Amino acid sequence: MLDGMDPQLNKVEALTEPGCYSLTFSLATGEERAVVARLRNGVTEIPAKAFTGWSEAAESYRATVAVVQALQQARELSRPTGKRLLDVEGGWDVSLGNIVLVAGKPACVTHGALELQADSLWRCAQCGAAATYG
Ligand SMILES: [Zn+2]
Repeated sequence: MLDGMDPQLNKVEALTEPGCYSLTFSLATGEERAVVARLRNGVTEIPAKAFTGWSEAAESYRATVAVVQALQQARELSRPTGKRLLDVEGGWDVSLGNIVLVAGKPACVTHGALELQADSLWRCAQCGAAATYG
């Protein structure tokens, strides 16, 4: 039963930490709010208390749990192997498309090949865009 008061799930995004998902909801007030869902040992935890009047008994809560569990299951069935190009802590260059792989090496889309600075940290000497790849 929809009563217009439950938060409406808009977006689910897998986070870097295994079993963690960012869930973005629309609220009846017109705001959006994001919370983190965690799957641990088969139990899905979504902080229902972050939303006034929402509880684990709500039909929309149970449906949200089902979405998170289905996404987790799909991700466990398939995963990239080998090296991965990722944002550095607090960085967005990979997410924003500033850094891509060119011929198997990280490159700044504006300035070209990146320099390997440390273990797996790559940085553009011209603009400072950074990523990890390794
Ligand atoms: Zn650059």
